[in-house]
Amino acid sequence: GLELRNIVKNFGAVEVIRDVSLAVNDGEFVAFVGPSGCGKSTLLRLIAGLDKPTGGSIAIDGKDVTEIGAADRGLAMVFQSYALYPHMSVRENLAFGLENTKVAKPEIEARITDAARMLEIEPFLQRRPGQLSGGQRQRVAIGRAIVRRPDAFLLDEPLSNLDAELRVSMRAELAALHARLKATMIYVTHDQVEAMTLANRIVVLRSGRIEQVGTPLELYNSPANRFVAGFIGAPH
Ligand code: ATP
Ligand code: MG
Repeated sequence: GLELRNIVKNFGAVEVIRDVSLAVNDGEFVAFVGPSGCGKSTLLRLIAGLDKPTGGSIAIDGKDVTEIGAADRGLAMVFQSYALYPHMSVRENLAFGLENTKVAKPEIEARITDAARMLEIEPFLQRRPGQLSGGQRQRVAIGRAIVRRPDAFLLDEPLSNLDAELRVSMRAELAALHARLKATMIYVTHDQVEAMTLANRIVVLRSGRIEQVGTPLELYNSPANRFVAGFIGAPH
């Protein structure tokens, strides 16, 4: 499991994350929602180890990882911008994070084949990202996380650049992926329908604080306040 204890993050004099505590169980699908600038990406980067909290601690499976770098946390982040290497083929993009690690070459190949099949990107392995559609690129970005076999996936608005139709089909693919991999997923989204349909629990953030945490049904039926109700689309 993942545990955030009293996390604070300041940028200069500005307190961007304010005393956030949260426990995420193994295999859980947790969505972070909240208005632009409320601190969702910052919190995700702190969990990933891409940035350090100003205060508080982060533990994974009971071990304090606050001072441990991103590469050694066993997590994989999928960025909103995909962050694929344009000059490399899809296959090379998938392999990149695994080269220079302890994973042997045949195992790398096996993982790429498996992920490509799962995400239906096998026909594109020799292409470059520029020769793919947005949805195909998005699946490559997810594939790059999958081949690392992380204990948890951190996804920052992974579907936000896609058109409405593709978002809906990718939503189903993500749900299937979560069911198959049984990995923890922490998912940042602006889209309350995405959060309501995908997540086991939703964390509503506002100005760097947690307003409420609960299952979609709990938040819908008993929102803590008008802000949460408004965000979830519940009657208020
Ligand atoms: P969005 O939905 O627009 O992506 P967000 O909830 O992900 O928003 P963050 O990117 O976490 O928001 O930013 C939270 C706040 O921290 C914002 O006010 C932002 O301007 C500020 N911020 C983020 N990164 C930095 C940084 N490196 N230096 C200074 N301020 C930052
Ligand atoms: Mg963000």
